[in-house]
Amino acid sequence: MPQCNGTTVPKYWYNIQADLPFTLDPPLHPVTRQPVTAEEMEALFAPELVAQEFNRDREIDIPEVVQDLYQLWRPTPLRRAKRLEQKLDYGGEIYYKYEGTSPVGSHKLNTALAQVYYNVQAGTQRLATETGAGQWGSALALAGYLLGLPIEVFMVRVSAEQKPERLRLIRAFGAKVQASPSASTAFGRQIREASPDCPGSLGIAISEALEVTRAGNGTKYALGSVLNHVLMHQTVIGLEAKQALADLDRFPDVVIACHGGGSNFGGITFPFLAEKFRGQSVRVIAAEPASCPSLTAGRYEYDTGDTAGFTPLLKMYTLGRDFIPPVLHAGGLRYHGASPIVSALLHHGWIEAQTVEEDEARQAARLFMASEGIVPAPESAHAIACALREIYTAQLAGKQETILFCLSGHGLLDLSFYD
Ligand SMILES: *Cc1c(COP(=O)(O)O)cnc(C)c1O
Repeated sequence: MPQCNGTTVPKYWYNIQADLPFTLDPPLHPVTRQPVTAEEMEALFAPELVAQEFNRDREIDIPEVVQDLYQLWRPTPLRRAKRLEQKLDYGGEIYYKYEGTSPVGSHKLNTALAQVYYNVQAGTQRLATETGAGQWGSALALAGYLLGLPIEVFMVRVSAEQKPERLRLIRAFGAKVQASPSASTAFGRQIREASPDCPGSLGIAISEALEVTRAGNGTKYALGSVLNHVLMHQTVIGLEAKQALADLDRFPDVVIACHGGGSNFGGITFPFLAEKFRGQSVRVIAAEPASCPSLTAGRYEYDTGDTAGFTPLLKMYTLGRDFIPPVLHAGGLRYHGASPIVSALLHHGWIEAQTVEEDEARQAARLFMASEGIVPAPESAHAIACALREIYTAQLAGKQETILFCLSGHGLLDLSFYD
């Protein structure tokens, strides 16, 4: 059986909004609590991205420029973890889709290129954004570098200190980057005065980026996860994986991804959920850190995406916008909220969510490393841990399930996780 495949890059993104068997609650204006209009959202985002946020067409064409750029590293490998199967004496099959082969080492570039492209088309002068562990910041910085758009990044302080190499990478790609809370926004200064030792959070960094955006000067904002259009851009992961498995005459019993804001999870699972909506049986599991458990311990209600309360109110599982997650290695999973689509899917019972302790994630990643040779990102390690649980459960039940998980990135800039 072939270990790898050479499918082509998809020409369209899959828009799950066309197929959802329930209605999504609309984003609300944070002050009036009325549904936000496209015009209001266009103050922050390029018009085409706002249109995609509400679009209900099943397939959205990927612009040719973006398709060409995807060819730099896509399609990403779909690999069968044969050695892991042997090590575990597992009778079923384990596959992983490896997004770490992207130039920035994670899936984030899939949406960064699309977002920068539509902003360049719309005449945007500059993009402001936040980043946790730095994966999103480096992806947007590279996309800006490739397509000629200046990028300004607010990087969660604790990650900037823990992962200085990612901060350097963002700079190497020509972007401006500073630790958040920073002294260059009113909101950042306010937090620094109130709590000088604040480690920062994605919510705070988003507020800072939005403050810069609202100041004008042709600046727009880019978000690396959570929003519908972001998850849609990531569906190239699942579309490729589904095709590659179909080429092997396979369809997974279980699909697993880690969950921070929901983008790699939505990216790999939505094309499989499309089949589930049509009656195909497949279990879909989100793995989140036990210390930032929005899906499993959050409340399903309207909340803002940032700490200052600048963003529209989103109906989602949330730990509260003031929640400052404990410092953990998987910086990309330290977010108080979750994608509204993923939240609704969970609420309506289409998907499951599990929490994983950091230690279990690390042990799972080590086992994976020792058989497959790849150093997983700490975020991805949560998905591996969940996959191992599924394998053990299947073994106990005497089942031989086909398991697919998303290895969302490599951990070569996160080695302190393994110390
Ligand atoms: C950012 C990141 C995540 C978490 O973000 P999602 O939007 O939930 O995918 C997971 N894995 C890696 C490697 C990341 O960079």
